[in-house]
Formats: sequence, structure tokens, C-alpha cells
Amino acid sequence: MSLVLHVDAAAWRAHQDSVVAGDPGIVPVAKGNGYGFGLPRLAGEVRRLGLDRLAVGTAEEVALVRGSADEHGVRTGGAEHPGFPGDVVVLTPWRPGDAVAEAALADPGVITTLSRVEDVAAVAKAHPGARVILEALTSMRRYGMRPDEFEAAVAAAEGLEIVGWTIHLPMIGEHLGEATDLATTALSACTVPLWVSHLSPDDLDRLRQTFHVEVRHRVGTELWLGAHDALHYRASVQDVHDVTAAERVGYWQRRAGRRHHRLAIVSGGTANGVAMQAPTAAANGRQVVQTLANGVMEAGRMALSPYSAGGRKLFFAEPPHMQASLLWVPDSVDVGDELEVTMRATTATPDRTVVE
Ligand SMILES: *Cc1c(COP(=O)(O)O)cnc(C)c1O
Repeated sequence: MSLVLHVDAAAWRAHQDSVVAGDPGIVPVAKGNGYGFGLPRLAGEVRRLGLDRLAVGTAEEVALVRGSADEHGVRTGGAEHPGFPGDVVVLTPWRPGDAVAEAALADPGVITTLSRVEDVAAVAKAHPGARVILEALTSMRRYGMRPDEFEAAVAAAEGLEIVGWTIHLPMIGEHLGEATDLATTALSACTVPLWVSHLSPDDLDRLRQTFHVEVRHRVGTELWLGAHDALHYRASVQDVHDVTAAERVGYWQRRAGRRHHRLAIVSGGTANGVAMQAPTAAANGRQVVQTLANGVMEAGRMALSPYSAGGRKLFFAEPPHMQASLLWVPDSVDVGDELEVTMRATTATPDRTVVE
């Protein structure tokens, strides 16, 4: 038995359908761990949605959505992996010397992101006819060119097919003004569609009213994970041991606490992303307090686990192993029980996904 992601197919797909219906011009994003679903599965959903383009994070991921290789780079293909036939945008900007990104340029369905004038010139020289998106630097200060470089970038793109400008905004704050300013400069250098991320529906509407080009909206989290109730990670209880007070358990031979007498071995561990935490943004006071509280618990060797039984979170007996975790459980928990697991979708790798 394993750590399994259970997907209520009807509810999950109804949610996807409603997001797509409300966002004409949507570009689904399928990258990384595929938001817990894996990239091949998301590519299949994009096909089901009838959309003709999607965005991936890296050049390596092109083969995964195309169905031509698995995550280890091993060649696949055939009826089992029909792959996504439409346009695939690579979000990470191209850099010289990356053989995979170089090879992707040969796929006429791949759209490469360029974020430096020198890279635009290099791609124009080596791959005339390639399809590219030019990236504008935003207040994110991640990738992109400054507005005073836009004209030079367009000039350097001679011989390339510019399919758009990309504007990737921060998650928080008010950014319509910034997007409008960047788009104004960009479109005066070259009139092509705008590809934007993280703008509210109202801001998108306003952008579409202001500019007479297509505005394409990249969406991952809301599309794939918005139907919370449709998604459940569950792990099975593989074994249970009654232990006496102060008995030692686990790799680290910690003593059982006074209130702990039932140890459960459950499926799921570090390989699945159990208890993986991103550094929190701790945006509000309550989150700061929670983070501190978790730290205190860890210092006292009592870390709250993401597993729960009867609606209550269980404590780890020690840090998770590769594919198993040791938990302190109440008497009611027995071998064969299924426990609900709270997973962070962007770091989750279930052993199996069941779409039912
Ligand atoms: C990952 C990514 C997205 C999708 O972000 P979500 O918050 O998951 O919707 C959009 N745009 C860019 C450029 C990205 O890298």
C-alpha cells in the first residue's frame, strides 16, 4: 500500500471547465511535479479541455508533455502516451550552452522565452524562424528586459517569429499600472499578444480593454488545485505496535513519551514529499506565531505530522523515512486504516494517483 492521491474526477474536471470558461485566452501551466498530478496527466487534461497551448517550466519538461520521454529521460511513446500535440511555451528563459533548450528550438510547436537582448541575437543567428516570447522585467526582479531595451530586442529578433511579450507579476500588491506601462512600451516596439501571470480578473479585463491585442493568462494553481474537496491524499497504516512508556523506537531510538503507547508505521515519506515545507512567507502575525509554535514543538521532539485520524493531526515519533513514517496514534487506529494526509501540492509525489 502506498501514499495515494484520490481525485474525484467529475468534480475536478467540472472545476477546470469552469475556470477555462471564465478565462478565454487561458494558458494552462504544467510544470515541476505537475502540481502533484504529474506532467503527462496534466497534458492529457489540457487535451481534454480542447486547448491548443500549454506552458511548461523547463526545456526538459517539453518531452514529458509531448509523451516522448518519461521523467528519467527514457524514451516513451505509443498509444499509452499520446502526448500533447499543441504549442508548448517554455517559461524559463533560454540561455546559451543548454543543449536541451537548444534541441527544443527545433520543435516547431515550442515557443522559447528570451529575457536578454544578447540571447535574442544568439537565437536569431542560430535558429532563424524559431518562435519566441520576449520577457519584460517586472517588480518581481526575476527575468526580463528593461523597457529601454525593448526596441533593441525587437531589432535583434529579425528573422524570428515573435509570438508575444510576457509580463510575470508578483503575487501580492496592485500591479495593473505596472502591467499597463510595460505593455504600452512593449507594444509600441512590436504589436503581438501579451502573456501575463497573476493578474486579477478585473485587471485582466482592463488590460484587454486598453490594448487591442490578445491577452493570454497563464494559470496553474487555480486551475489544477482550486477544487479542494476533489483532492485527497491518503496513506495506509501498515503496522501498529504497542510500546511501553520510555521504550525506545525508530532509527533514532527516542523514548516513547508518557502519553504515547501506540506506534503506527504508515506509508509515505520524504520520497513522497511528506512534511516538506517551503520557507513560509509568513505574511501575517498568525502565521509567524504558528511557525514559532511548530519550532517549539520540534525542539521538544514533538513535531506535528501532516497525517490525521478522526480529523485530528497526529505527531511524528521521529522524522519521516524515505517511504514510511512513524506516528503516535490513538487506540482507534489499526492496520489497514487509511489516514488523511495534508500535502503541499507543489512538493507532493504520490506513489499512485487514482482518478475515480
Ligand atoms: C508557475 C508560473 C505560473 C503559474 O503560477 P500559478 O501561481 O501556479 O498559477 C504563471 N506564470 C509563470 C511565468 C510561472 O512561472
